[in-house]
Amino acid sequence: MSKESRKFEVPDELANLYDFANTLDLRRFVHHGVQHPQSDQLGNTAGLAAWMSERKLGSGGKMTPAMFETALQLRSSVRDYLQCNPDDRRRNKTVGRALNRMTQHFPLAVEVHDAGMTLRPARDDALAGLSVVVAELYNAAANGTLDRLKMCASDECHRVFYDRSKPGTRRWCVSALCGNRAKTRTYRERHHGP
Ligand SMILES: [Zn+2]
Repeated sequence: MSKESRKFEVPDELANLYDFANTLDLRRFVHHGVQHPQSDQLGNTAGLAAWMSERKLGSGGKMTPAMFETALQLRSSVRDYLQCNPDDRRRNKTVGRALNRMTQHFPLAVEVHDAGMTLRPARDDALAGLSVVVAELYNAAANGTLDRLKMCASDECHRVFYDRSKPGTRRWCVSALCGNRAKTRTYRERHHGP
């Protein structure tokens, strides 16, 4: 759970997945005359370790450059998957295969405890905590909430958001901003040519 996930009322069960996907901020729209600066919270091994320890996903082990690369590839396969419309996710073999390749690096074990059962990381090094993100992905797919985790359709945004609308058909993270920008552009293109 983070300030962002709370602000946008993302279910706690998905908060690490949501935050992880959004560590890459590709937003570049102009709002109130200022261009949004792009950023990457996982800029290097230290950034990844800090991000994980903030969320209590750190194990204190050494984060190697190879582990860092694996984490970035997991993120890009997760983002590619979420960028597909929910209906296309099951059909798109390329994104499915890429995600399968990356999740193999994050095996999970079933742990029985007082409150029931939980999927917990099976690896025990510095990357172990990211298995929690994979467990959230699996649990959300199993209970259907993953269909509501989407990527904003605006080319200037591509932020991952949780669709709380009743029909679950939202395409933009903030309809009043990204949705309006997209509609204004379509209108302009239609009325003024290319
Ligand atoms: Zn957006």
